[in-house]
Amino acid sequence: MDQYLVFGNPIAQSKSPLIHSMFAQQTGQELQYARMLAVKEDFIEHLETFFSNPLAQGCNITAPFKELAAQWVDELSSGAQLAGAINTIKRQPNGRFFGETTDGPGLVQDLLRLGIALKNKRILLLGAGGAARGVLKPLLSEEPSLLLVANRTAEKAQVLASLLPSEILEGCGFDALTSYTQPFDLIINSTSASLSGDLPAIADSVIAASDCVYDMSYSDKPTVFMQHASLLGVENVYDGLGMLVGQAAESFILWRGVRPLVEPVIQSLRANL
Ligand code: NDP
Repeated sequence: MDQYLVFGNPIAQSKSPLIHSMFAQQTGQELQYARMLAVKEDFIEHLETFFSNPLAQGCNITAPFKELAAQWVDELSSGAQLAGAINTIKRQPNGRFFGETTDGPGLVQDLLRLGIALKNKRILLLGAGGAARGVLKPLLSEEPSLLLVANRTAEKAQVLASLLPSEILEGCGFDALTSYTQPFDLIINSTSASLSGDLPAIADSVIAASDCVYDMSYSDKPTVFMQHASLLGVENVYDGLGMLVGQAAESFILWRGVRPLVEPVIQSLRANL
């Protein structure tokens, strides 16, 4: 049976094995998907041992190995080159290893699934870490009228700007976190602030004036950012569980060539958070 794996540290909490087993059952694909804990010093060794098994067809990579994995593969997608990090490896028929980042497509798919329009919309992306870097290009492909990336450490947003090829920079603004007041159609929180129960330092007036707030984090209850936005009167408030399932679906499609249904998997995970 074809073998798949997710590497990370920590990894015990990963929902990827459950998600992929649901996808496999749903689509009638025969595969095994496990999780593996690694440390930076032995990650590459583990990766090579895994792929020395000819049945090993691909793997997912989560924090903190996404950049290391991008350096290991033979080929990178254009999105992965920009992100400098990958979450998916596929063994190709020619034996070479292909690296992709599916976080961005997973986010865009989830936003569209939720009925959130992106074309000609004004989007504020909070954060300039790995997650922000991975979603920039797919978001820009949806042709928003403005994509403003704002970060607590403003220089990191500037670094992100410098990575973007000039042809996709058009309509894309960069600024520090607190220095704007215009309303946005959509605010995406890609910071890890919610994980520590913190709010990114963004003016309440900016949040209150937005149509929709999306937090990439998720837990068994709305994140602090979601709760805060709801209190400020934002009606459309979402967490990143759908993005998690969406990025897994994009990996599954890359490996198996079959598109799984995400909705029943999101519902099942939500019921068991
Ligand atoms: P990184 O560590 O690479 O980046 C963290 C970012 O958050 C930085 O921009 C940092 O700002 C900012 N930040 C951290 N704490 C605060 C704070 N208190 N106030 C304001 N900004 C803050 O993390 P990632 O980009 O990899 O991940 C970010 C989040 O996205 C995580 O919560 C992760 O779980 C989530 N995620 C969800 C996915 C999904 O499928 N749903 C997929 C990928 C990520 P600074 O530069 O100033 O330090």
